[in-house]
Amino acid sequence: MTVMSGIAARGESVLFMAACPDCRARIELAAGALRLAIGGSRRTTFYSFTCPECGAAVRKPAGERIVELLTGGGVRTLRLHSAL
Ligand SMILES: [Zn+2]
Repeated sequence: MTVMSGIAARGESVLFMAACPDCRARIELAAGALRLAIGGSRRTTFYSFTCPECGAAVRKPAGERIVELLTGGGVRTLRLHSAL
């Protein structure tokens, strides 16, 4: 198992390690449980998931490296366009 910057790969499946800010549970999320939104600025680039422990909707900013990791791991990506 390789752990690097919050991403873990076990066999064929990629799991993303995250911590819930509400209940502080340490959780592992498959790519399908995460959503990534890429906006025109850092403020609008974030990833989100629902905590399986407490059900909280968690949203965290995603830097360039996290974006790379998530997209490389097959997380569904939504590209937000600044001109709506
Ligand atoms: Zn939680």
